[in-house]
Amino acid sequence: MLVIPIAKATKKLRERFGASLEPRDDRGSLLLEGTVPSWDAKIEAGWAAARFGYHGVVNDLMVPGVCDEALEQPPLRDGALEGAYFDVAIVGGGVIGAALARELARWELSVLVLEKEYDLAVHTSGRNDGMIHDGFAASPGTKKAAYNVRGNRLWEPLCRELGIEFKRPGSLVIFRGRTSAIAYPLMVARAKENAVDGWEYWSRARLRAEEPNVHPDQHGAFFLPSAGVLSPYKATIALAENAAANGVRFSFDTCLLSMGVEGGRVASLRTNRGEFRAGVVVNAAGNWADVVAGMAGDRFFSLHQRCGTELILDINTGATQRHIMSMPSLLQVRSKTKGGGLVLTPEGNVLAGPTARERPGREDYSTSAAELRELERHLKINTKLSLSQVISYFAGVRPCSYEEDFIIEKSRRVANLVHAAGIQSPGLASAPAIAADLAAMVVDIAAGFKAVRLRARWMPHRGTKPELRRLPLEERAQAIARDGSYGRIVCRCEEVSEGEVRDSLRTLLPVYSLDAVKRRTRAGMGRCHGAFCTPRVMEIIASETGMEPCAVSKKGPGSYLCAGKTKEHKAQAAEARS
Ligand SMILES: Cc1cc2nc3c(=O)[nH]c(=O)nc-3n(C[C@H](O)[C@H](O)[C@H](O)COP(=O)(O)OP(=O)(O)OC[C@H]3O[C@@H](n4cnc5c(N)ncnc54)[C@H](O)[C@@H]3O)c2cc1C
Repeated sequence: MLVIPIAKATKKLRERFGASLEPRDDRGSLLLEGTVPSWDAKIEAGWAAARFGYHGVVNDLMVPGVCDEALEQPPLRDGALEGAYFDVAIVGGGVIGAALARELARWELSVLVLEKEYDLAVHTSGRNDGMIHDGFAASPGTKKAAYNVRGNRLWEPLCRELGIEFKRPGSLVIFRGRTSAIAYPLMVARAKENAVDGWEYWSRARLRAEEPNVHPDQHGAFFLPSAGVLSPYKATIALAENAAANGVRFSFDTCLLSMGVEGGRVASLRTNRGEFRAGVVVNAAGNWADVVAGMAGDRFFSLHQRCGTELILDINTGATQRHIMSMPSLLQVRSKTKGGGLVLTPEGNVLAGPTARERPGREDYSTSAAELRELERHLKINTKLSLSQVISYFAGVRPCSYEEDFIIEKSRRVANLVHAAGIQSPGLASAPAIAADLAAMVVDIAAGFKAVRLRARWMPHRGTKPELRRLPLEERAQAIARDGSYGRIVCRCEEVSEGEVRDSLRTLLPVYSLDAVKRRTRAGMGRCHGAFCTPRVMEIIASETGMEPCAVSKKGPGSYLCAGKTKEHKAQAAEARS
């Protein structure tokens, strides 16, 4: 892309956003300084700057009343990593970090994944709708489009190796109103340009036959058969467990705080668990990737956060539709998101969403009544859905670059640093393809300091335990006959047994908290939100680990559910009174 000279860029930006703007060419990227009146103006200025052809936009514009967020350190302090060395350090245990860890495990490299949280997939990778997009929606020519289509092809065989469920229901973009089908030739042109794997025109009659509950104002649909679904947190955990089985080390509650750079290379990484060295560093830090880049003196991009809220409907609602469905309005054509719709989970829920709202807050998962109301319109796509079937809602935050594309590249300034940043949607769908390219970059850098060979014993398959409610009755009975704990149901909504909860705590990467068990087994994910199973899961964690039940947390240190045993508390209170 042609680079607009800084004087011309400054003139254009000041005309639109005010004279206080101070754009600068910072070693080839465009740095924005000054003050703008609102968050929206800051984002708009970033988008405008991204059109000037620089290598990234660093948006340091200040907005009155909005402060910079600080990276919160986990409470744990020890020297577990002090003085250690790894060939590769991956910062971030989301789907990108986990997929890369598994790819790198094919090679004779020592690899460490640092995750500041108590578990994998705590942030964006566990807060999305799990759709393996077909690749139609991404703008042609972008990295998002190319990685999406490649990733889509890779997920199905990968899920077989990982022993997790993958379904390919296909996606229907439904024409609303008589005139909207005129967009069909344009849609075909885009699908061709993105090399999407197949598409079909469905008439009104065909759509009604395939989806009898569809909105009556439908006028046929654009069908994309390659769209799939999986559980995003199960996928992230499975990738990580398989990487761990092949020798990758994971360090949870471990936050990268700073990096020492010497001679143009990252020489040291300082964390709350000690300082260590690594031959190559990969920045897969999600919404903090610009901060991590800055730690190495390589801040050539800023991320802005686009929050998305979703509704989760009851587990039986998936039976009322066979495909992923959306009914976009023509007004969405120029928007930065796909507009949302109804997605299916592999387990049988319908998800409605997501919304898309620019707002500050890298980890702000608050939801609002207005957003929930906005999502109600999606429920109308399927006439069998209603608000009474909504069992919960959640929000996730997309990490977006101002170019609105992925940043997947070796650093231009730091010789042993690789970035996987700006991984907004379709980052989940693209993850296996992104990981393959990142691994090639890492191996290339590592070859500069050691002979990198493929590992002789690489195990692509992950051992899995039975998921009871998915088994035919006869096989369930056999499992229960072998081990009676599979017959004791702990979570009634999701039909999860004691044996399955216990199995989730006996893996290579066990995490002893309620939410970790929920991500692995779905215990607590149903309509009652854990009202019945929470005490039982706490007991099982306690008996497996020897922990006091009161020491079992919901989501890591500081999120304890119990203060103590009731009788002891009463006695202590009485003693204090006397
Ligand atoms: C509402 C919503 C719906 C979406 N739907 C889809 C979809 O259907 N399909 C799709 O393909 N994509 C979807 N996406 C996008 C997808 O979820 C993301 O692209 C993907 O999860 C990004 O993964 P990641 O590993 O880059 O980031 P993350 O999952 O955020 O992982 C980054 C990790 O880095 C850790 N970290 C950060 N800083 C540090 C540090 N200093 N030290 C140690 N650890 C650190 C964080 O704690 C975090 O766990 C959706 C996103 C949202 C928000």
